Amino acid sequence: MIYCLNPNCQKPQNLDGTKFCLTCGSQLLLKNQYQAIQPIGEGGFGRTFLAFDAHRLNARCVIKQFFPLPEIQGNSQAMAKATELFEQEARQLLSCYAA
Ligand SMILES: [Zn+2]
Repeated sequence: MIYCLNPNCQKPQNLDGTKFCLTCGSQLLLKNQYQAIQPIGEGGFGRTFLAFDAHRLNARCVIKQFFPLPEIQGNSQAMAKATELFEQEARQLLSCYAA
């Protein structure tokens, strides 16, 4: 199964081997490398997916998608804070990965 990353997609499940979402037409392979399989978490700032990394023998990885709730998106101060926290987490993950 390939999961469409478009947050507004009505039917995000696609069959393996599909390149574009059958429902919304979005490209399914993120950066031509990462294939989301299933959502594993959802919070106020976005969603997390289990994924395969095609450039690393389809090793499992995680995609974190920044997609704040509408009430955060509508508030520029909350949006700035959310962006800061998301980038902070991304930097932390990067440093764990590099260590
Ligand atoms: Zn879609």
